[in-house]
Parts: sequence; structure tokens; C-alpha cells
Amino acid sequence: MNRRDVIARLGPGGVLWLWLGPQQIARGASIVAVRIWPAKDYTRVTIESDAKLQARPFFVADPPRLAVDIEGIDLIPGLQELVSKVRSDDPNISGIRVGQNAPNVVRLVVDLKRPIAPQVFDLAPVAAYQHRLVLDLYPTAPPDPLEELIAQRLRELEALAPAPAAADDSDPLGALIARQDRPREAMAAPPSAQAPAPGPAGPPHPAEPPQMTEARRPSFSAKQRPTEQTDQLIIVALDPGHGGEDPGAIGPGGTKEKDVVLSIALQLRDRINRTRVNGHTMRAFLTRDGDYFVPLHVRVDKARRVQADLFVSIHADAFFTPRPQGGSIYALSDRGATSAAARWIANKENAADLVGGLNVRAKDLEVQRTLLDMSTTAQINDSLRLGSAMLGEMGRVGKLHKPRVEQAGFAVLRAPDIPSVLVETAFISNPDEEQRLRSPRFQAEMADALLRGIVAYFAKNPPLARSRQM
Ligand SMILES: [Zn+2]
Repeated sequence: MNRRDVIARLGPGGVLWLWLGPQQIARGASIVAVRIWPAKDYTRVTIESDAKLQARPFFVADPPRLAVDIEGIDLIPGLQELVSKVRSDDPNISGIRVGQNAPNVVRLVVDLKRPIAPQVFDLAPVAAYQHRLVLDLYPTAPPDPLEELIAQRLRELEALAPAPAAADDSDPLGALIARQDRPREAMAAPPSAQAPAPGPAGPPHPAEPPQMTEARRPSFSAKQRPTEQTDQLIIVALDPGHGGEDPGAIGPGGTKEKDVVLSIALQLRDRINRTRVNGHTMRAFLTRDGDYFVPLHVRVDKARRVQADLFVSIHADAFFTPRPQGGSIYALSDRGATSAAARWIANKENAADLVGGLNVRAKDLEVQRTLLDMSTTAQINDSLRLGSAMLGEMGRVGKLHKPRVEQAGFAVLRAPDIPSVLVETAFISNPDEEQRLRSPRFQAEMADALLRGIVAYFAKNPPLARSRQM
């Protein structure tokens, strides 16, 4: 008797299963888990099973819905769980229906809130996962990171002062719009995986035409649009590691890296948004602000899209044994890793895409991106300066694992024009540090330390030197 038979006999539908006959049960796969990761960028639906599922997707435009016929399984409660897992605030999905379409064929219908370019694909078992059937639902009109930043700023200005923000002689909103208006010759490559995707059977995704950027520029009233540039805006891209299907490292107490690093990033964002450097306003931009998977190269693309002045990736370290402890900071290397440990960490962090699960189009874009990425010595030197400033401050909050900035080939630090560091805040595999990582106090102290490091870096290396202003 195999495991599936045992499940069938023990489960509430056991009688029905036995009536269906042994052949059908033997052909079927068992659902291990179902998950939904809603986000503005895209919503992912994952069906994990103990054998590969045969899926046949077809898209219906009006009203927008994605139907997927899954062969080799029978309607079981595991799959029906999807129906109740749809959140009312999901930006893309309005509901899911599951029905037995034919013997051994289950039809999944995903009702959509807006037009979607789906990617349906499967992933072979990796890490803790068995077979995964994945539905990535990208809005055909994807959010633009720079527009998001502007919209966020507008909301803040409205909330802060009923009177126009003109009272402030600086004009951060104008600076944002100016960035939007700047030519982006360096951004000729598709900005991110948020661009419309072809269906699974569609042709390879063409590079996004540059005029798309023009078309998506937000419109502002004459009153809002500044007449001239008055202030420089400093944008710090914060990159909370992992997310969604990729939990990152998991501590002995079950703490997930993706959760604590997002929490620290959100605290750091608030601090950055309240801070001015040399009279300039700072804005934080998050490469992910929720629990969903963002491929490594998309994180880099997003930061470049908003023309970030800095890129700070936030992680928590892990090792096989509980002893190692302390924070560390990494920069990119163009000549191999500075230590075996640094190489090991880089390999581990670079594996995030494997666990998170890249779809076909994300893979295509990654290849294009790799060709484009040529990090410069200047970027690495700036990154080392930034890392040193931050490391000094981190040492005042907790132990340091390494006394100096280490280097290795981290995929997420490859923006050729943005000083970029990866912060391992502490060892989540160390029980004491896992507790600290969970504590709001440590998170706040870490955010304070990272902010002080950023401010110290800008004090010595004003981004003005990079001729930002119009
Ligand atoms: Zn990590």
C-alpha cells in the first residue's frame, strides 16, 4: 500500500476515493499545499504536489479569468483550500473556483480584477519543496516604481499639510518628477519583470519599447508641476531579502529571514523618510514591501528605475551550527571572493531565485540583464566606503562577525551605477540572535545603526558629485 492509499483511506473523502477505483487513485497526485502570494506587482498561486501535475491553461479576456485544467488529480479538499485563501484586498484576483471538469481533470478558474498576462509553469522539487505548479498573474498595466514613489510622496504631502508644500523651499516632489523626466539611455533594457508577459504558449517576450516609459508618465496638474528644479532628492533603495515562496534562512525557533528583514527594512524606511542629509530630503524605496517573491535581477532593475543613489540589501545569516554570530556587510567583487566564507554566503543568497521560482520570462530578462551588467571599480569602491560606514555603526549595536567589509559575487549587488551593499544583520541560526532579530528593540537599533551609516556615507560622499540635478 503506498502513501497515497493511506491518505485516501484516512481522509474524509476516503469512501469516495475507494469507489473511484484503484487505477485512478494510482494515477493521481496528492496536493501537499496551496499558497497565494498577493502583491501589486503580481499575484502568485502555487499548488504543491507529490508528483508533477499536467496543466493546460487558457485565458479568457472578458471578463478576465484564467482557467487551468489540471490532469491526474481528483477534486480534493487540498485544492479547494485555494478558494478560501483569496484575500479580498488581492490586487489581481477576485476569486477562485475549483470543479471536477471530467474524471481525473480538475478545472481551476481564477477570476481576475484586471487584465492579466499569466505565466503558468512548473518547478522541480528544490529545498523543502516538492513539485510546484505556479500561476504568476502579472497585470498588463504594471505599476511603475517611480510612479509609486511619486504617489507615495503626494499622499505624504497631503497628510502632512493641508496648505501647499510650497512653504518648504525645497521641492522633493519636483525632484522626483525631474527624475521621471530625465532621459534614461542607461535604462534601455526592460525595467523589470512587471512588464506584460506573453501566455505560456506565446512568443518570446520582446524588449519593452522605450516609449512605454513616456506613455506611463503620470500626469500632474500645472499647479503640482514645478517650474524649476530647486532641490536634490536622495533616494535609498532598500531591498529586504527573499519573500513569498522563498523564506530565506529559518531559525531554530521557526523565525523566517524574509519576515524579520522586511520588518527591519520598514523601520529603516521610516527613519530615512524623516531624515535630511546636507539639507537634502531622503526617500526610501522598497524593492518589496510585502511577502512575495522578487527575482534578484528585478530588485536591481527596480533600484535603477528609480535612479537610486544607494542600494542596501537586508538579510539574516545562517550556518549549519548554532554557534556563529554577529553582523557582517558585503560588497560586490570583480576578482573572486575575499574569503571562502564570503563565497559561500554569496552562493547561498544567489540561490534565492531557485527556491523562489523564476518563470520563463524572468529567466529571459535575467539573461539580458547579465549581459548588461558590468560593474565598475568605482561602484565597488563606493560600496566599500558605504559598507565600512555602516559596519562601524552596526558594531555599536551588536557583535560583528567580520571586522571589515567582505566581497563576493552577489547577484543583487550588480547595479553598475549604484553603490550597493548586502547587510547580514545577525545569525538567525544562532538561538540568541534569532531572539534578538525578532525583538522590536533590536530591529529598531539595527535600523538606527544602518541609518547612521548611510548618513555618514553621504556626509563624506555627497551624491551631488554624480551630477543628479537637471
Ligand atoms: Zn538572505
